[in-house]
Amino acid sequence: MNKSIPVSCDTPQKQTPWLNVNEAIERMTAAVKKIQDTEVVAIRDALNRVLAKKVISSINVPPYANSAMDGYAFNSADLPESGENTVTMIGKSFAGIPFEGEAKSGECVRIMTGAPMANGTDTVIMQEQVKVDGDAITIQSGHCKNENVRHIGEDIKDGDTVLNIGQQLTPAELGVLASLGIAEVCVYKKIRVAFFSTGDELRNVDEALEEGQIYDSNRYTIFGMLSNLGVELIDMGIIPDDREAVEKAFIQASEQADAIMTSGGVSVGEADFVKETLDKLGKVDFWKIAMKPGKPLAFGFVNNAVFFGLPGNPVSVMATFYQFALPTLKTMMGLNITKPTVIKVACKTDLRKAPGRTDFQRGIMQTNEQGELVVESIGMQASHVLSGMSKANCFIILPQDSGNVSAGALVDVQPFRGLM
Ligand code: AMP
Ligand code: MG
Repeated sequence: MNKSIPVSCDTPQKQTPWLNVNEAIERMTAAVKKIQDTEVVAIRDALNRVLAKKVISSINVPPYANSAMDGYAFNSADLPESGENTVTMIGKSFAGIPFEGEAKSGECVRIMTGAPMANGTDTVIMQEQVKVDGDAITIQSGHCKNENVRHIGEDIKDGDTVLNIGQQLTPAELGVLASLGIAEVCVYKKIRVAFFSTGDELRNVDEALEEGQIYDSNRYTIFGMLSNLGVELIDMGIIPDDREAVEKAFIQASEQADAIMTSGGVSVGEADFVKETLDKLGKVDFWKIAMKPGKPLAFGFVNNAVFFGLPGNPVSVMATFYQFALPTLKTMMGLNITKPTVIKVACKTDLRKAPGRTDFQRGIMQTNEQGELVVESIGMQASHVLSGMSKANCFIILPQDSGNVSAGALVDVQPFRGLM
């Protein structure tokens, strides 16, 4: 396992009664440190990875002044203030095949998008805006110097810091790196996350269900969320509610992984048995978080591995993963974390809510016929209704103290589906 992940977790108190959501996020993100190990990878392999060394450009982008349009390159001295002016085309500049000569006053050069500006020219007029008669090119008044010219270094200058440590490399960053002629980057190594489900009632998807059994869905949502995050996965399957099996699983996980994620077995009534094992192996606190869904949550360290004991109910798993595990794992991965986007949107439906906990209700946000963003509840909000999570595209976050919400009110919405 990676020794660079810290072993201390001294913030939470045992059996803290009700912790609010922001406090829990702060405690968890403060308790972990980012991975220190780095590796150099080809930029395609760096997709979604976290940059460990800043990138400074050693070239200008664009590297030379070039045309933003297909048209004709002129010297601005030839642009008429009124009426029109006719000049002679003396050559062509294509992208990759520049015009080698120099245009003098009274001359112009045929130029294509991306082609280098010909010597002696500083302005490009679109081909639709000139009259062409053989080599005689006529321009009207109304144009200005530097029109349609992309200047050297206007995107990135030689010496600019282009990407910073802690930045995630998305498709845009891969393109930026390529535009600088950079083939490899230094990224943080992937953190390893071991995960398993607990519960005697759980069966694998390829097994037949008997009376009193359900399929293990949490290991699939957790697999999906961790995969999207870009960590190395160690799927340890289903562990029965058996003291020895649980202890063995925790020891094995802590030897292999930087973080351990489980679901189930942390609620009151179940906690004692898991709690005893965890007390023996590390320092884990059992929290009641003032949120709905997802009240019970265990967090701390098992040996050297960071431990997330998510609740058992499938919607609670996803809600607590997004709100707590995500920023904490991102911190471990070396990512600069930012607060998730929350927007105010009018709610089309009444929402039932009791004061006391922050609700993360599942909603569908869309644009109505008037072009305005609106959100509505997916309907049944119980924490076992996982199909609601699939219908939803956002959480409707209702503050801890708020009560019922009437249709038409503005609510806080946190989208959880992106463009891709
Ligand atoms: P627990 O906290 O273990 O009592 O679990 C709370 C609820 O979540 C129970 O209804 C469990 O059956 C259910 N549950 C626990 N683990 C899973 C899982 N991996 N997949 C689906 N449901 C689960
Ligand atoms: Mg259970």
